[in-house]
Amino acid sequence: MAQQAVIGVTGLGVMGRNLARNFARHGYTVAVHNRTSTKTKALMDEFGHEGEFIPAETPEAFVASLARPRKMVIMVQAGASTDAVIEEYAPLLEPGDILIDGGNAHFADTRRRENALRDRGIHFVGVGISGGEQGALEGPSIMPGGSPEAYESLGPILEDIAAKVDGVPCCTYVGPDGAGHFVKMVHNGIEYADMQLIAEAYDLLRRASGMSPGEIAETFRTWNEGRLGSYLIEITADVLSHVDRATGRPYVDVVLDQAEQKGTGRWTVQAALDLGVPVTGIAEAVFARSLSGHVDMRGAARELAGPSGGGLDHSFADAVEQALYSSKVVAYAQGFNEIQAGSAEYGWNIDLGAMATIWRGGCIIRAKFLDRIREAYEADPGTPTLLTDARFAAEVGAAQDAWRDVAVTATKNGIPAPGFASSLAYYDGLRADRLPAALIQAQRDFFGAHTYRRTDRDGVYHTHWELPD
Ligand code: NAP
Repeated sequence: MAQQAVIGVTGLGVMGRNLARNFARHGYTVAVHNRTSTKTKALMDEFGHEGEFIPAETPEAFVASLARPRKMVIMVQAGASTDAVIEEYAPLLEPGDILIDGGNAHFADTRRRENALRDRGIHFVGVGISGGEQGALEGPSIMPGGSPEAYESLGPILEDIAAKVDGVPCCTYVGPDGAGHFVKMVHNGIEYADMQLIAEAYDLLRRASGMSPGEIAETFRTWNEGRLGSYLIEITADVLSHVDRATGRPYVDVVLDQAEQKGTGRWTVQAALDLGVPVTGIAEAVFARSLSGHVDMRGAARELAGPSGGGLDHSFADAVEQALYSSKVVAYAQGFNEIQAGSAEYGWNIDLGAMATIWRGGCIIRAKFLDRIREAYEADPGTPTLLTDARFAAEVGAAQDAWRDVAVTATKNGIPAPGFASSLAYYDGLRADRLPAALIQAQRDFFGAHTYRRTDRDGVYHTHWELPD
């Protein structure tokens, strides 16, 4: 009998190709297939020597080359392409086979697909994969959902090819049906917030402190040695020290200032709105990208009045570090709360500490700081917010005066810092003894008889506002 593959990958684009190579480099025989067969051939020509590949020209040949129970990864664009590929392969599979979607699918689509394929006896596993092209090849962070039964045979292979931190794989079973894609979505939402906060820190250092991109790169390198140590800080330093060859100008100055997005940040906010979780840092990041792209509005508003005089601060890099760290704690706290809420809503039973553990390596938001989050959830799995973990509370408490100074400096100088400002408002909102929500409830009762509850008695009340006091 011809040799059979342990696993297969169909969709040999940027991600699929490198994922297939990663499997092969770890000693797995990999079946490879792509709609356009030139990509399969190119993979074999360039990298066929890296391991055991079984190239297939048709879906039938691809499926026939897989050992039972079959395990095949789909790496195509989310949405209609994924549905088309599932429709093509499902009739070729048998009960017990495992169909894996490694794309950035919306978790609701994964729930729908898993449900439909479960009826046909096929395990559908939605897997979040982070780390981009390089991660797929060298070890990504992997967030698999689906049935525990499927994970039993698939898990060890995924854990093998995942990134490792202190010998621990950045892959673990997340939970049933769409749990893996949900966690990947929130990962991306946190990534949006992290990037926005870093961008605000850069903008403040540049415009309020008058530092050059090269000087800021050095500051970021120093920060990277401390509690902010992370992949995003590290690459930001590299970007800021990069000089555009064509013009000799700082590279960051020749890039158009309109941030694009593919949608996972927006999904994170939409899901949070549905679940009633305030993810203000992520939302600000999504809206900040959106604002940057509104060229007409920005052009029309350029002449609007700005501050009459702000008072620049030439030595506040340390304060910016504190604002960045505190805002980052808020963004992660919000993201983890969203996972907690999604887990409760859909019955996923997600282990939050384990999610922090698998994000420590391989993925875009990998950071030293995730070890602390892991420890916080290990100490108290039911903690209502990471902000009240003793260590985070102490650190943010010590940083909050500087955080406020940075928000004031930004405001006085007319430098937008929505991430810093809204995270601080969230922190103060949680801290407040009394919120003006009381007044909002009263307004609602006044115009809509929506009722209210009282501080001094149980029950639900309505005031007859038309009657004299
Ligand atoms: P890509 O380079 O654009 O490749 C897309 C692949 O999908 C191609 O092989 C294409 O085949 C195939 N395809 C598209 N529609 C198809 C259809 N209807 N039937 C069969 N094959 C079809 O995409 P990518 O960057 O590798 O991304 C793949 C998935 O991974 C996406 O869901 C993406 O969101 C996710 N992802 C990407 C990254 C990243 O950094 N790029 C990171 C994490 C996750 P042809 O060659 O025939 O066109």
